[in-house]
Amino acid sequence: MSKKQDKFSTDWESSVQGNYGLPSITLVRGKGSIAIDSDGQKYVDLLSGIATNILGHAHPSIVKAIRKQVGVLGHVSNFYMHPGVIELAQKLQSLVGDESARTFFCNSGAEANEAALKLSRLTGRTGIVATQGAFHGRTMGALAMTGQPSKREPFLPLVPSVTHVRYGSLSAMKRAITRKTAMVLVEPILGEAGVVVPPSGYLSGIREMCTHSGALMVVDAVQTGMGRTGQWFGFEHEGIVPDVITLAKGIGGGLPLGAMIALGGASQLFQPGDHGSTFGGNPIACASALAVIKVLEKDDVLLKVQSDEIFLKNSLSQIVGVKEVRGRGLLLGVVLQSKIAIEVRTELQSAGYLVNAPTGNILRIAPALNIKRAYLEKFVQDFEAIMNRVDHG
Ligand SMILES: *Cc1c(COP(=O)(O)O)cnc(C)c1O
Repeated sequence: MSKKQDKFSTDWESSVQGNYGLPSITLVRGKGSIAIDSDGQKYVDLLSGIATNILGHAHPSIVKAIRKQVGVLGHVSNFYMHPGVIELAQKLQSLVGDESARTFFCNSGAEANEAALKLSRLTGRTGIVATQGAFHGRTMGALAMTGQPSKREPFLPLVPSVTHVRYGSLSAMKRAITRKTAMVLVEPILGEAGVVVPPSGYLSGIREMCTHSGALMVVDAVQTGMGRTGQWFGFEHEGIVPDVITLAKGIGGGLPLGAMIALGGASQLFQPGDHGSTFGGNPIACASALAVIKVLEKDDVLLKVQSDEIFLKNSLSQIVGVKEVRGRGLLLGVVLQSKIAIEVRTELQSAGYLVNAPTGNILRIAPALNIKRAYLEKFVQDFEAIMNRVDHG
């Protein structure tokens, strides 16, 4: 470790809360899919701030939009309208393809899911069905719905009446949904749990059950949304329309922005005074989101994401020690044959690539959606060299 990094580590430990593991590098600059640390080492960023910097670092359109907005009007609170929030809500309505869609803006994924939870209470029911392994955020309501016991247990008691069922199983879902179920919360692909894709028909099956029982179907598209999977929200391939869609991560292009979009009857549940957020939908985050959507549309980025998926799946799955490559678009889980993901991640970092290891045998790849193909090709080569070198146990 360099002296500079050593000092950052000491200073971090003596001033920042210990809720995160101590990071091993300090990033100071970025341009496109390249991130640079405090020692000047360059990395190809294949994680993009956990699926968040969807146009990479310092994209000129985002920089221009933010600069312009902050010089004109930076914040208004929710006592006033501003043009950006209306334009963004309209844009989301057209991307969802339903004129009944109404958006509530907040600042994070947890907040978007909290908003959905509160909305569901206004149906007059209180039951919630969520799935094992799913991640929905760290605030108390979002945590109650998160299907990872180790994250929940230290903080009990949480919001009651949440049932967790096996992800991907429609029969388990069917047993859990009753006339008391207010909402069913589901990720189109489990992101944090290691990029788990459900069997086809899963989302449409849940849609049918929700319609039948009167429960709201809430799709947590925080990680899969905004083109990440090669579709706008990650559920379109099942031809369904949820009652509620939650977004965050990519939508702000790196700025804190979350959204809860409710459709149909659900769009009319919140009344004045029911919910709010001081910073939610602030002009700067909205300007950034509008710039992001414009670039994604103008440059046909979703089509590029679909072809990157095919390239990466084909090439990575042939590498020795790789069992399977799963996921959709540019949210991919490289499943290794043995539990060496953390070691491989460390090797990749030394070789100049940022990825993460959500579990012992899985590497997650979630780069900027506009990443150049040449970086991906070079990554495949360097990854193969590392896999040929490491001990597979
Ligand atoms: C990251 C994530 C969240 C939480 O988002 P925060 O902005 O960290 O609160 C919720 N749901 C999913 C699917 C996520 O990936």
